[in-house]
Amino acid sequence: MAPNALPRWITNARLADGRVVDIEVDNGAIAAIVPTGTPSEHRATQGSHDLDEWLLLPAMAEPHAHLDKALTADLVPNPGGDLQGAIDAWIAASIAGRLPHEDIVGRAATAMEMLLVRGVTAVRSHVNVGAGYGAAAVEAVHQARAQMQGLMTVQTVALVHSPLTGSEGAGNRDALHEAIEAGVDVVGGCPHLEPEPTTMLALVIDLASQAELPLDLHVDETLDESMLTLPDFAQQVMDSGFTLGASASHCVSLGMQSALVQQQVAAQVAAANMAVFALPQTNLFLQGRGVPTAQPRGLTALDALFHAGVNVGAGGDNVQDPFNLVGRSDPLETAALMVMAGHRSPEAAYDMVSNAPRKAMGLAPINFQVGDPADFMAIDAPTVRGAIADAPMSRRTFHAGVLVASSDSTARLYR
Ligand SMILES: [Zn+2]
Repeated sequence: MAPNALPRWITNARLADGRVVDIEVDNGAIAAIVPTGTPSEHRATQGSHDLDEWLLLPAMAEPHAHLDKALTADLVPNPGGDLQGAIDAWIAASIAGRLPHEDIVGRAATAMEMLLVRGVTAVRSHVNVGAGYGAAAVEAVHQARAQMQGLMTVQTVALVHSPLTGSEGAGNRDALHEAIEAGVDVVGGCPHLEPEPTTMLALVIDLASQAELPLDLHVDETLDESMLTLPDFAQQVMDSGFTLGASASHCVSLGMQSALVQQQVAAQVAAANMAVFALPQTNLFLQGRGVPTAQPRGLTALDALFHAGVNVGAGGDNVQDPFNLVGRSDPLETAALMVMAGHRSPEAAYDMVSNAPRKAMGLAPINFQVGDPADFMAIDAPTVRGAIADAPMSRRTFHAGVLVASSDSTARLYR
């Protein structure tokens, strides 16, 4: 093996189907996959990384983070614990100058590192954009992203404040343009917080088309069943012929509709080829406060969406900030909630935090076929179910075939 050359083989990897394989990587992709023990004349000279039969899974993807807010729970308290309290607390802290630029860069970089060590090689982060501070937070997250170059893919979404339409929206519209100028990857926003959701949806679809960017909106983040902008979003995506990629995050109020309405809306979302991201942590934390009996879970209508064939991913959303005091930047925590609160199988839940969001983010899925991206998480666990249940921190993260993070946990018992 030439000095400084990267290992070409990942050996002794146990796949979810039980096969133990050696994987050759080349140019960031899987070049060959053979049963372990298959003789190879090249392996010794090309170098290898031995996984000792750890479970090798597609790398995880985090489709919905807020890296500009991460790890601010103690700095920006939200005593009421609800969504409006969190929004108000965040805006007040921004205006009061309690969130300086360098601190946002530092916390965002730390949050990215936490994700990488846990096995995440692609993250999409919404970043607040609005009148008063423009796209400053986007610049901060981009600065943090530069520190992670070559280690992971980071997409930013301009989460523009409401209102976006009318004379009162002028400052927010300017900020959104500023974010697009700053190189944001996706156009965002919150139609359910708008005075005129239909006009707002038309505006962001038009803007995203002009900028040639995908859309990812916070949609119907409320238990109020009378608020349902998702069908309008889907219809406008179809009518406008928007094909750059549209995702709807949250979709809480869809879970409060009758089964018939859920089916109808899910069919529209499928026809519009849109993805939906369920966000259990933040929805469980913020939604349903003050509802003493039969408290709703605040999850979207998973059964109806899956039945209609919608690509449904799951994200961690907020991590230790005023929108969710806990959370540990681990999609295996999200997957566990999809099993417990969302009633998915462990295998389906793992897909929701790996290949499903990758596809929605415009990244190729990893199915352990030649040509697939060599982005993997190796974990010291017996099965996918065991990995989600124990979430051991003995992991290896590979991005484009290169080992980019490792973590080992040890425990001792003294008798
Ligand atoms: Zn969010």
